[in-house]
Amino acid sequence: MRRKLAAGNWKMNGTASSLAEVQALVSLHCAPSVDILICPPATLIAQAAGLCANSPIMIGAQDCHAAASGAHTGDISAPMLADTGAGAVILGHSERRENHNETSDLVAQKAVAAHAAGLIAVVCLGESLAQREGAQTLDVIAEQLAASLPDGTTGANTVIAYEPIWAIGTGLTPSLAQIGEVHDFIRSRLSERFGVQAAEDFRLLYGGSVKPENAAEIFATSNVDGALVGGASLKSEDFSPIIRALE
Ligand code: PEP
Repeated sequence: MRRKLAAGNWKMNGTASSLAEVQALVSLHCAPSVDILICPPATLIAQAAGLCANSPIMIGAQDCHAAASGAHTGDISAPMLADTGAGAVILGHSERRENHNETSDLVAQKAVAAHAAGLIAVVCLGESLAQREGAQTLDVIAEQLAASLPDGTTGANTVIAYEPIWAIGTGLTPSLAQIGEVHDFIRSRLSERFGVQAAEDFRLLYGGSVKPENAAEIFATSNVDGALVGGASLKSEDFSPIIRALE
């Protein structure tokens, strides 16, 4: 049985004072029936992980380099993230794909690095508005899914997040039928590649304008095992009800 997952992506937001939000979640969710992941900026990972040391809440990162070390000024490797207390890393977020020209091939290389360091890779996929309107969504998802997951991917070391680009930070969400269609499709593609049994182990998250108000209906949708939440993960008063809706 897959354990549901509520994951928060703080993006480039937060300074030391924001750790109060992590502390609040630690207090509010001592024994959750779902997994909780918070991905603050890299500057806060060590302190956030310290706050969560005796809590079931996991701290994650938002990206890693594909190499373990070397001459890559400004980058952070997967072993460094693990060393600083991270248990997971978001890879292939559309903002990385768009702003840093990250390809699915690079995402797969980063996933290899993450797995080698013992990190769970949260691999993001999603179509643009033009692709959605051009009825290309499933083709785009199929291509990104196939190319972003390296061999050795399992439901234990990888989570898939479906995040339509046009729904991120816009307040727009696909219909529940559209979300279900893509999640069912991802599960069927995972079955074809990894086998029916192994495919059942993967957590499939929906991401894009998840809020306390819409979380419950999204979580009731076919093959949705949780959410990757951006803006509404910044404040515990917003993220906590989303976690509760998943429980
Ligand atoms: C995200 O960036 O992963 C995301 C889903 O953002 P938001 O929830 O703000 O749409």
